[in-house]
Amino acid sequence: MSIDRERDASAKGAFYPVGLERIDESTIELTWNDGRRQLLTGRGLRDVCPCATCREKRTAPPPDPLELPILPAGHEGAMTIAAMRPVGNYAYQVTFGDGHDTGIFTFELLRSLAERA
Ligand SMILES: [Zn+2]
Repeated sequence: MSIDRERDASAKGAFYPVGLERIDESTIELTWNDGRRQLLTGRGLRDVCPCATCREKRTAPPPDPLELPILPAGHEGAMTIAAMRPVGNYAYQVTFGDGHDTGIFTFELLRSLAERA
């Protein structure tokens, strides 16, 4: 894959997934139309989940450092990927193992994770 071609496609915003393969319960391998392969993890996706609930959680003030850390109940499966369904032709809806499915991950967002890695 030439760098020029990649830059070209990027300028047009023309990246879209052509393959989706489950590696394990928390890992999906995405193949893009330019041949790039990207591993998506449940944790990685959850960290950038664009839904209102998750955005709010991320902007909440950090917990009081003087309080003992707690592990909130009901988060089993939160970091696993139960399903990924296409939304229109621009995004995927991700269902996490705990049933959370309100996040719509645009191709742009998914691709930006690959560029960051
Ligand atoms: Zn969310």
